Amino acid sequence: MHSLDRATPVVVAVDGPAAAGKTTTCVALAERFKLGYLESGRTYRLIAFEALRRGVLTRDQENLVSLCDELLRESRDQDLLTSDRYQSADLRSPSVNVAVSDVARIEDLRKRVTQLVRLWAERQSRCIVEGRDIGTVVFPAAPIKFYLTASPEVRARRRLDQEHRGSYEDVLKDVIRRDEADMSRSVSPLVPADDAITIDTTTLTIKEVLGRMSSVCESRSVTFS
Ligand code: C5P
Repeated sequence: MHSLDRATPVVVAVDGPAAAGKTTTCVALAERFKLGYLESGRTYRLIAFEALRRGVLTRDQENLVSLCDELLRESRDQDLLTSDRYQSADLRSPSVNVAVSDVARIEDLRKRVTQLVRLWAERQSRCIVEGRDIGTVVFPAAPIKFYLTASPEVRARRRLDQEHRGSYEDVLKDVIRRDEADMSRSVSPLVPADDAITIDTTTLTIKEVLGRMSSVCESRSVTFS
């Protein structure tokens, strides 16, 4: 069992491929353990959304970084992470799903988002952050790391049930495409951290997944105040 000293930032890092259940479980754990919650993918999505809206080509890395800086200026930095100016449906459209993979492979842009996430976390006493590189790059010293995964077919089915958008075949194709893009990029690729607890949720209910994650949080003292 780990024991945490008070100086250690209590970050629960949750990584994994698209539609593996990260958001659902993070929201529930945040509520249960009174943790600040951050969905880091939303920031990559809103940059992709703005790029599409403003006609910035997603292969134009230099202009995407400038766009990111402009958004940071407009939003006074860390508000960009939690900005409520954007509708979830807009950020989750099929075109953003495609564009976000281009945005997320830009090193200079990732550095900016990583810094924002770290600044945000410093202001929380305890938090849970989901993404692709949270346990590996953003918070490599996080005391609790989970890597959630499930078969692409099950993830596509869950995503479809949740969002009711598109056909099963299209959603599956997008899930597989994003897995490939996230896992093969040279900067911060999606891999489980060496010390992450991997949970394959393919045959598990949300309740079972939450049960496992909660017992880890309890055994590692995430509940201390
Ligand atoms: O989590 P979500 O599916 O909304 O993330 C959208 C995309 O943002 C991912 O497919 C990935 O390319 C990128 N992302 C990332 N690093 C993170 C979070 C998201 O590269 N920490």
